[in-house]
Amino acid sequence: MSATNFFSGNPDLVEVFDRVIPWPAVVRAVEGVDANVDETVSTWREVLDVAGRYMASEIAPRAAEVDEIGVIRENGTVRMNEPMTENLRGLAELGLASPSVPAEFGGAGLPFTVTMMLAEMLARADLSTQVQHGIGWNSPAALILRFGTEQQKARYLPILAKGGLMGAVAMTEPQAGSDVGNVSTTATPAGDDCWLLKGRKQFISAGQGDMVIVLARCVAGSTGLDGLGMFIADREGDNYVVERAEHKFVIRGSPTCALVFEGTRATALGKPGDGWKQILTFMNESRLGVGIQGIGVATAALAKASEYAATRVQMGKPIREHPMIAEMLLDMETTVAGARALAYQAAVLQDRAIFGGDQAAARDARELTPLVKWYCTEGAVRVCRLALQIHGGYGVVDEYDVGRYMRDSLITPIYEGTSQIQSLMAVKDLMKWTMQRPSSLVRGGPSRLLASASFAGRGGADFAAARGQIVGMLRSVVGGLVRRRGVGILTSRACSASARS
Ligand SMILES: Cc1cc2nc3c(=O)[nH]c(=O)nc-3n(C[C@H](O)[C@H](O)[C@H](O)COP(=O)(O)OP(=O)(O)OC[C@H]3O[C@@H](n4cnc5c(N)ncnc54)[C@H](O)[C@@H]3O)c2cc1C
Repeated sequence: MSATNFFSGNPDLVEVFDRVIPWPAVVRAVEGVDANVDETVSTWREVLDVAGRYMASEIAPRAAEVDEIGVIRENGTVRMNEPMTENLRGLAELGLASPSVPAEFGGAGLPFTVTMMLAEMLARADLSTQVQHGIGWNSPAALILRFGTEQQKARYLPILAKGGLMGAVAMTEPQAGSDVGNVSTTATPAGDDCWLLKGRKQFISAGQGDMVIVLARCVAGSTGLDGLGMFIADREGDNYVVERAEHKFVIRGSPTCALVFEGTRATALGKPGDGWKQILTFMNESRLGVGIQGIGVATAALAKASEYAATRVQMGKPIREHPMIAEMLLDMETTVAGARALAYQAAVLQDRAIFGGDQAAARDARELTPLVKWYCTEGAVRVCRLALQIHGGYGVVDEYDVGRYMRDSLITPIYEGTSQIQSLMAVKDLMKWTMQRPSSLVRGGPSRLLASASFAGRGGADFAAARGQIVGMLRSVVGGLVRRRGVGILTSRACSASARS
């Protein structure tokens, strides 16, 4: 794996691009049925190649400095440090500030799958910069593109596409982390499409920027996930306060801010009251994005460990020739390759769902999303830990970088829904689909993806056995419910499950 270009120098990523992604389906969904597939795909490939070179040669060498300087706190203000600002400036100059913004608003108009490949390479170069890029530019742009009025799109998208302002997305509050339904920031109508926000947001990435999209309770008396809305607030004129940036040991260059709203003027983004429904569609993308972050950091750790194991000699031979080290490297390589295959399958489904309106793809993307978030981020922590171990004592020395990868990897199973929340989501959906179609349990089970998958050889036999175990477990859960509550449980549970979805 060459460190001079994070695209063309990464054979597995190139393999996914050249041989795995079903590009005709993606191009047709994103660009329309008349688009020239070969030309479009070759342009996207060129974008990745140019970006991969820039990230490897300019951004990765600045990562240690970004980490060491951390966030700048001066005279009560919070800002990004100079090397990170330089990284972002370079990306904006390449036309990649908000890669998903369509050309009509001055953006690159890239599909989600290609945007994720950029994110993977950037996370490999420097996770702090990737967070600022993803959350500060791309996420607000994606939300405004999807839910904004024509006026909001015209106002924000061209400037986000050029990197001319930085935004943030604020859901979390001091008392509402995993329990988003406990959000207590309020939005009150104040006439002329103006709303006033009151409350506090916690842990907001890129919160030091120029605007923020806020999840707030806008229907008086509502509770839980009902009655929420999304609102855009500009910071200009001290409209809200950046109270502080947390001191932390992960993604040290990315300001993680506490924000205070006291009568902050804002406009509604989408339909007030539908905030949770709206943000859910976006959450698929942001959770896949964090999974991709995991792959980026793990790739960086794997590259360093492979290089080190090839040159470090102990007991007369390079340590990679010692069977236990060889096994660790193989484990890391297969974990990263497996995570990448899973994540890009989900990314393609997301493209077909968002751009092509394909409902079956949307359901499959929803099924894969918690698995991607869980597997790629927990896998990243494990891979970074192995990379550190392969470096022996040098692993804890700053100049070897693996300590930073280890630290940065630790945030990925936490934000954007912890691993525990991903497990709960996956199980909840599986149970819902089972109750809706109990007859699937006599075949391959309620998951269309699992039921239709088959592989040749020993791996295929292992897969079929594992699927049989899952279906068997579901059968016994449903059998137990029927024995205790009667057959009626199947129809009543199915009805209430679909009412909540
Ligand atoms: C660096 C950083 C950047 C962030 N950026 C943003 C951002 O840009 N915007 C934003 O809105 N938020 C952001 N967050 C917030 C992040 O999404 C939350 O921290 C995360 O969702 C967890 O919430 P919490 O910290 O309140 O933990 P809690 O929800 O209090 O969870 C504590 C522990 O309990 C577990 N737990 C909670 N509920 C359950 C349950 N039902 N079953 C089993 N286990 C459970 C969790 O898995 C966790 O292990 C960021 C956080 C950090 C640290």
